[in-house]
Amino acid sequence: MGSSPPFGYLKQSNIIFLRLFMILVLSSILNKTNLCSHSVASINSSITFSLQALHLDGYFNFDAHNIQYAAKDFGNRYHFMPFAILYPISVFDISSTIKHIFHMGSSSKLTVAARGHGHSLEGQAQTHEGIVINMESLRGIKIVSSEEMPYVDVSGGELWISVLHETLKHGLAPKSWTDYLYLTIGGTLSHAGISGQAFKHGPQINNVYQLEVVTGKGEIVKCSEQQNADLFYAVLGGLGQFGIITQARISLEPAPQMVKWIRVLYSEFSIFSRDQEYLISSKNLLDYIEGFVIINQTGLLNNWRSSFNPKDTLLASQFNSNGKILYCLEMGIYYSHEETSIMNQKTEKLVSQLSYIPSTLFLSEVTYLDFLNRVHISEMKLRAKGLWEVQHPWLNLLVPKSKIFEFAKEVFGNILKNNNNGPILIYPVNKSKWLTNRTSLVTPGEDVFFLVAFLSSALPSSTGSNGLEAITIQNQRILDFCTKAHLGVKQYLPYYSSQEEWKTHFGNQWHTFVQRKSAYDPLAILAPGQRIFQKSIPFSPS
Ligand code: FAD
Repeated sequence: MGSSPPFGYLKQSNIIFLRLFMILVLSSILNKTNLCSHSVASINSSITFSLQALHLDGYFNFDAHNIQYAAKDFGNRYHFMPFAILYPISVFDISSTIKHIFHMGSSSKLTVAARGHGHSLEGQAQTHEGIVINMESLRGIKIVSSEEMPYVDVSGGELWISVLHETLKHGLAPKSWTDYLYLTIGGTLSHAGISGQAFKHGPQINNVYQLEVVTGKGEIVKCSEQQNADLFYAVLGGLGQFGIITQARISLEPAPQMVKWIRVLYSEFSIFSRDQEYLISSKNLLDYIEGFVIINQTGLLNNWRSSFNPKDTLLASQFNSNGKILYCLEMGIYYSHEETSIMNQKTEKLVSQLSYIPSTLFLSEVTYLDFLNRVHISEMKLRAKGLWEVQHPWLNLLVPKSKIFEFAKEVFGNILKNNNNGPILIYPVNKSKWLTNRTSLVTPGEDVFFLVAFLSSALPSSTGSNGLEAITIQNQRILDFCTKAHLGVKQYLPYYSSQEEWKTHFGNQWHTFVQRKSAYDPLAILAPGQRIFQKSIPFSPS
């Protein structure tokens, strides 16, 4: 089927009349019960017809063969075939489409999913027989490099890697990142965007001055802390529920040229986490902090040699973990070429305050771009082995500081036997430095909490411990333990299948979340893949 509208010769007034007529026809068909397949087909062609009649700069594609990519995501476990894909060129394309669907009313089942880079894990950017908006078609990066407050106005569909490349041309860069940069602005701002800079600058949703949003009624709204603040905060961390982010104004800072990248190992969790907590409370010691867990892995230090230099080659070569679980603290100090000697002093000072295993100090110096884009190298390697497009049963948790020891003892010491299925990240953040209170993001009640990410890949058709079933069972055991032990853990990139579970997840924020939903997307048209609200089922805060 052709993808561009065939009604170019119709006048605007005729098109409006045609749309209204189609909506009336459609509503009257939909109101009839017991639809036979003939009437389903006729509804589908009416919908196609009415969508094609919209006056757009971009276009729809209805061809099943061409649109099936939108029924897939990084998780590779959920596949919902859309009805059509919109390739928008302007914000008006998105607004007209949503307005049109809004005017169809609650009797139409049509929903809308914005698709960023499709790196969701459980179908969150998909819609069953609805409209997927291919956000990457909406392009635009404009940098304003004022001295006091540099920022970039960027389309919601741009990738962070593109923003980095563009801002670096001006000697600038955003402050807060994700570990992987082939994600869209709208996709990460709908969650939080957490990485090793979050302890200092807060998550990405903390570094946004303004948004342009298309609500579930099709309205185009500019919002910020000063203007339409409720919508602004609702959308940040809002899981796509309140509006589609078409543009974001993101705060920038002067970009460093280089990063001193440091890794050290611990065999005692309590010492590792104590050092991590100390570092996030310190002022100006470092710019980046993460960490990961190594369970039952041999030859690890050898793998690092391609990118890191041991401080003491001989001692490092003699290091033996004796089968113990190891915890790697990873740090970064930013600097420019002329600051090399200051940076070396800073590094000495930093490591002298830590209690790691002395033979395990590894150092490296990389450009800022290579540092931020580090996961892309792993991606290329995995792609070459056919191991990137596998299933990804990931589990991301936010664990309160007071419970992290109990969590680590049971999960790393008992539930997990190895981490051969993928990395396990663990690092703390300091909520008092975050300005997320009014956003939709849900975090544990304590000021300091740890992000713990189990980033597993399932081997295709394996029935062993590296297969989907075994990993899913293991994830469930972790979740069950957290619930039984009352750890106050919250899921990051949350996934639930019932509204009861969502209510528990949001806790006392649920009431506000539902109120905002009824204000900005009263028909529950947006982001159905999150499975929080269902179109045509009224929602209430109780
Ligand atoms: P999509 O998967 O396309 O969409 C995600 C959700 O947001 C969907 O519900 C969708 O409808 C909605 N959405 C998309 N665009 C918009 C928009 N413009 N407006 C409103 N809603 C929208 N997260 C971190 O915080 N830190 C990390 O370090 C990190 N690393 C990652 C590494 C990898 C390899 C992967 C796969 C994911 C990682 N993530 C990380 C998670 C990632 O931030 C989320 O999965 C994010 O949603 C992916 O962005 P996307 O552009 O692919 O979004």
